[in-house]
Amino acid sequence: MGGRTKLVGIIGFPIGHSLSPRMQNAAFQSMGLDYSYIPLEVESRRLFSAVTALRLLKFRGFNVTIPHKRRIMAALDDVASEARLIGAVNTVEIHHGRLIGYNTDGRGFLRALYDAGGTSVRGKRLMILGAGGAARAVAFQSALGGAASVLIANRSAARAAELVRDLALTPARCSTTALRWSKASLKSGAREADIIVNATSVGMKPGDRSPLPSDVVTPQHLVCDLIYRPADTALLKQARRAGATAMNGIGMLVHQGALAFEIWTGQRAPVSVMREALQRGPTGGGGAPGGI
Ligand code: NDP
Repeated sequence: MGGRTKLVGIIGFPIGHSLSPRMQNAAFQSMGLDYSYIPLEVESRRLFSAVTALRLLKFRGFNVTIPHKRRIMAALDDVASEARLIGAVNTVEIHHGRLIGYNTDGRGFLRALYDAGGTSVRGKRLMILGAGGAARAVAFQSALGGAASVLIANRSAARAAELVRDLALTPARCSTTALRWSKASLKSGAREADIIVNATSVGMKPGDRSPLPSDVVTPQHLVCDLIYRPADTALLKQARRAGATAMNGIGMLVHQGALAFEIWTGQRAPVSVMREALQRGPTGGGGAPGGI
């Protein structure tokens, strides 16, 4: 680092297990860009002071992770429309002292899908398990990306209903329905779906079972588990056993980071370098759900 090094980073709490510094710094290095990406542990009660400090210290931008993805919005000068719809920001650009918020999770998911096998959501029917931050990002971006239908199944029915209500506010012509979190509903939902996405945290803990009943996945399904730690979950094993195509969350993690890199630098991100950087070091250990 020198006096001209451009600073970017990530704020969250805890932050010790974040994989983003390794991934972003490898990308800057491989492109010969004089940037440095720094992990910054910020407690909730210090969020607004920390954001003021980053602006004063002339950071170019920063990522935002748990627990600040929603509250950060109140500290920003502008929020991109998709982040406003999703209700969360994971990337901030600081441009001439103005803070602009984005959410790259949903577009990261779409790019990962395309990267893994040339699949687009256009015209596809999705069943999404979960209604938290990751589910909202995938649901909104899929609807905006031309999905024919999105079914939302969540343990807490009220949260699924709220997401379906919010999806109706988009200009997308996509049919959206909330499903009950029961074996029978998940089974009938799967019959109506081309792509099944697990956006719950079920599968992160050792010994977690698949969130889906045993006989619902068919060879026609593309099954995506947004979990990246562990890289292989009970759901993905179930999908492969059933002859379906299976995709874990590493691609989405890489692509949400690649989009942030592009926002800060204006250059195309070296996606393969970023993916390799993630795969090089240890990916086990703690970290909060949804943490980047
Ligand atoms: P949230 O805490 O916002 O949402 C968690 C979701 O999981 C809720 O829908 C919750 O349901 C559901 N859930 C939790 N426990 C259970 C359970 N025992 N049974 C059924 N449902 C359950 O987390 P995020 O949306 O941020 O993250 C969700 C997952 O997505 C995580 O595994 C995370 O690692 C992954 N993720 C991956 C990313 C990537 O880049 N690959 C990016 C962001 C997240 P309820 O509403 O009923 O509590």
